[in-house]
Amino acid sequence: MAALLQADLADLNASMESRTPQELLAWAKTTFGGRVAILSALQRAGCTVCHLASVAKVNLDVLFVDTGVLFPETLATRDLVAATYGLNIISLTPEMTMEEQTEKLGILYLTPDGQAQCCEMRKSAPLLALKGRYDALIGSLRRGDGERRSKVPILAVDPKMNCLRVNVLANFGDQELADYIRTNSVITNPLHKQGYATISCNRCTTPVLPDEPKRAGRWRHLGPWAMYCGINPTDLDRGTDAAIDLPQDLIDRILGRKVDFAI
Ligand code: SF4
Repeated sequence: MAALLQADLADLNASMESRTPQELLAWAKTTFGGRVAILSALQRAGCTVCHLASVAKVNLDVLFVDTGVLFPETLATRDLVAATYGLNIISLTPEMTMEEQTEKLGILYLTPDGQAQCCEMRKSAPLLALKGRYDALIGSLRRGDGERRSKVPILAVDPKMNCLRVNVLANFGDQELADYIRTNSVITNPLHKQGYATISCNRCTTPVLPDEPKRAGRWRHLGPWAMYCGINPTDLDRGTDAAIDLPQDLIDRILGRKVDFAI
């Protein structure tokens, strides 16, 4: 095993800026083979990645964290995307039901500290249980979503999961996303049309007004303290020293030092 630092990815990230989401998806599949999956909450951008994967026939599993308190519309979207796009969507669930958690620890999501603990248990931990299974996770974070995502790199190390995050839509703008969804009739969560700009647990998500920031509907009851759940490493403040450990030959493949030719 060898260390791959975020700083090591700088040149590669720069060279990937001109690639399309389809090309980035193909790169991820070629580089990681069976050790890459899509991670998605099946919001607009996530459904778009699922559509891209389906069209490209890259045969990637989709990991979906079902916190147990999602909206019925979100679960229906998951099922419709799986059936329509022919994808294997794997639902990851927390150890405790929300009822068990509340009985044991109280209603956590009403305070900033409790929210962090609740998101850790209900979102991050179910994904963390798969640590070691994948060397890369394809995400749908976009710079167009602004705030902490305004500079999200295409490739980012995820020290917690010890894998590479591949944000294939990082430089896909709002208009491009809207055009892709419309042109391809991409399945989307019907809650978006009811004013939900972003969608997570029913306890912590509300619609937003037209002039509010997209994420204003998340943890609205907590004010400006809680903006992100922490499942995406680039939403946290990590420097270029962040690193993961991967086999040396895989790092060589990622960085383009080694190419397998099939003639
Ligand atoms: S979004 Fe709310 S209910 Fe869902 S895991 Fe986080 S704190 Fe808990």
